[in-house]
Amino acid sequence: MTATLENPSRTKVLVPPTPGEVIAKYQVAAPVDVVSIAQEIGIRVWEMRRLPEGVSGQIWRDPINGGTSGFSIGVRAAEPLVRKRFTVAHELAHYILHRNKLDSGLFEDVMYRGGLSSREETQANQMAADILMPFKLISNLMDEGENTLEGLAQRLQVSLPALKIRLQLPV
Ligand SMILES: [Zn+2]
Repeated sequence: MTATLENPSRTKVLVPPTPGEVIAKYQVAAPVDVVSIAQEIGIRVWEMRRLPEGVSGQIWRDPINGGTSGFSIGVRAAEPLVRKRFTVAHELAHYILHRNKLDSGLFEDVMYRGGLSSREETQANQMAADILMPFKLISNLMDEGENTLEGLAQRLQVSLPALKIRLQLPV
C-alpha cells in the first residue's frame, strides 16, 4: 500500500480558481474591483492614450507584457472611471466567453460593437453587468440604507444608465 506524504490542503491551493470563483470573491464588497479580477484571472489592464478614434477598449494576445493568461486589456485613459470599469468588465467577458475568437491577436471594441457578432457583444455586455452589479450586492447596499439610484450607482462605480438597464428601469 502506498500513501501520499503530500498535505492535501497544500495540494488543493495549487488548483487555480475558475473565473467564476474569482469574480464571486470580489462581489462581496462595493465597488466590485474589476481590475483585480482581471489580474487574478491572468490579464493585465492598461490605460492607453493612443487608441484609435472611437475605440473604448481592446483585448489582445500579449505574451511578453500580459498576465499569466498571455492577454492584456487596454482602456481609453481619457474616459470616465465608470466607463473604463465597464470596458474592463466587457473585455474580460470576451476573454471568458469568446477566447477562441481572440486568438488571432488584437480585438478592438468600437462602442462595444467590435469585430464579434452583435450576439456576442450583447453577451459581453450582459456579463459585464453581472460582474459589476450583482443583485445580491445591490440588495445588501439597499439594506444598508442606500436607497437612491444615484447613491447605488456611486457605491457600485457604474453609470446611472448602466444601473437602470440592470434594474430594468427606463433609461
Ligand atoms: Zn465587445
